[in-house]
Amino acid sequence: MTGTPKVPLVAGNWKMHMTIPEARELVSAILRAAPGVSGASLVVIPPFTALSEVSSLLGGSGIALGGQDLFWEEKGAYTGEISGPMLRDAGCGHVLIGHSERRQHFAETDETVNRKLRAALKSGLRPILCIGETLEERQAGKTASRVDTQIEQDLRGLSAEDLASVILAYEPDWAIGTGVTAAPTQAGEVHTHIRGRLGEKYGNGPASCAIILYGGSVKPANSYALFKEKNIDGFLVGGASLEADSFIGIAREALRADREKK
Ligand code: PEP
Repeated sequence: MTGTPKVPLVAGNWKMHMTIPEARELVSAILRAAPGVSGASLVVIPPFTALSEVSSLLGGSGIALGGQDLFWEEKGAYTGEISGPMLRDAGCGHVLIGHSERRQHFAETDETVNRKLRAALKSGLRPILCIGETLEERQAGKTASRVDTQIEQDLRGLSAEDLASVILAYEPDWAIGTGVTAAPTQAGEVHTHIRGRLGEKYGNGPASCAIILYGGSVKPANSYALFKEKNIDGFLVGGASLEADSFIGIAREALRADREKK
């Protein structure tokens, strides 16, 4: 993937929303609107139950499909878990790893995140790795050290070649689902820090190619200003991805900002 020109990437995390009929309706609306944002790369991330249906609907549209999590073993006695090969089988090319809600409610640690990340790569999935600080960590001036720790521990054992398949998402906990967005300069500062840290670890070439998304209460109204920040390459969107208009509106604003950035 190294050397591929970057286009704005917008991924929609549906979280625990959407029955199969609701998913069908949302995807149909996204498919109708998507030709208007053909310069962007779109990923939809429905709940597991809707993956096969959404995969069939997406067909050859160019919109990618992702899972919200995976377990690191390929199969076995792990009731309730879903593996990388199962996600591939359901049509996924991407998978979210280490979302803050998984870290907060399901005891994910940097160690389990690392195991999942490696399993995703082994299965040929593109992980979207979520990192970011809590409000307490930000207030204590520990944002940079928290993301450094996550980069160090979550990416442990990954080569520069592996990094080319990983999408990073900077998602400050305090901005997720809260309606509070990081100010563009606040987000941009952390993105620049993350890219710099990746540069120290993997070299400037791989770091400059890395896709770093921002996530946290992104909407059409704030996505233009966020995308104008130098090191923001796209968005991981929760709430606003549940409506085709706002999901596509975010991609449209990102494309507008991208044209001005170039
Ligand atoms: C998310 O789920 O990753 C997210 C950023 O949610 P929201 O856009 O609702 O804050």
